[in-house]
Amino acid sequence: MPAIFNTEYSTLFPRTYANTAWLIDNQDGEILKKLSDVKFEELKDKSFELISVVEMLCEVCLKPMSAKSKFLRKIQISTGEDYKNLLNRASIHDRVEIDIEKCKIYFYDHDFPGDIHPKCIEKL
Ligand SMILES: [Zn+2]
Repeated sequence: MPAIFNTEYSTLFPRTYANTAWLIDNQDGEILKKLSDVKFEELKDKSFELISVVEMLCEVCLKPMSAKSKFLRKIQISTGEDYKNLLNRASIHDRVEIDIEKCKIYFYDHDFPGDIHPKCIEKL
């Protein structure tokens, strides 16, 4: 069984977090690219780890508080068909980002666990 983590978002995915539109302080967000911006040629003959990331959003500000990540499986991109299947799969998620250097593809979704940032509670 794959390990499931539930950690402070910025600790678990510092680079992913830096790449979200929500974060103003974008330090090295260049590393993760949107899957839709990556061409088949860049992925061809490589294998990638697919990782599901569920962002737990604050009920008040809708920004992520934490994230659960889960390793799904490894895939090999050899043919245009493999690439098409990957894009089809990506279309059902909130967004999909890829780290070509580390060969990881992150599928993002979100959930509302019913939590609120301490700072947001003060605003209520
Ligand atoms: Zn909040």
